[in-house]
Amino acid sequence: MSFAYKKREFEDIFAWAEDGNSKCFYCRDKEDAPLAVALVHGKGICHACLERFEIGHLGADRHVVDHIAPEFQSREEALRWFKQYGEVHFVDVVDEEQDDVYIYHFVNDPEKYRKYQEMLEEMRSKGHLVHLLDDREVEMSYNSLEIHKDGRYSIVS
Ligand SMILES: [Zn+2]
Repeated sequence: MSFAYKKREFEDIFAWAEDGNSKCFYCRDKEDAPLAVALVHGKGICHACLERFEIGHLGADRHVVDHIAPEFQSREEALRWFKQYGEVHFVDVVDEEQDDVYIYHFVNDPEKYRKYQEMLEEMRSKGHLVHLLDDREVEMSYNSLEIHKDGRYSIVS
């Protein structure tokens, strides 16, 4: 069983919610099917979609993720949960006053993400300083995900 309305690309739920036609961010059912959860402006996700929900694009799906994610007790538990939905790559550790924060990339689009990694590699091999690549598509191929030692997480960009 898979989720037919899984997001392939980033969509801004706030921009979508301005449009008055549909209530469910996923199936876009125009009938008045009751929502399972209202996310923004009284719109959200319907029961049928919530039952089958799978993360497609973490940035687009962040509100549903925040709704369905359990209270994790540890970083490992949070990481296991996110990994059920896709590729998660470790990036860095940030020690914020000893509350270890691990930064991961949650991959939204594996093909574009690989292209991104290749571009970074190429720049490094040429000795360029790598900051941010000015390529929106490539940038949207992943979301940064910060997970704390105690299991709290935040979806960064
Ligand atoms: Zn729906």
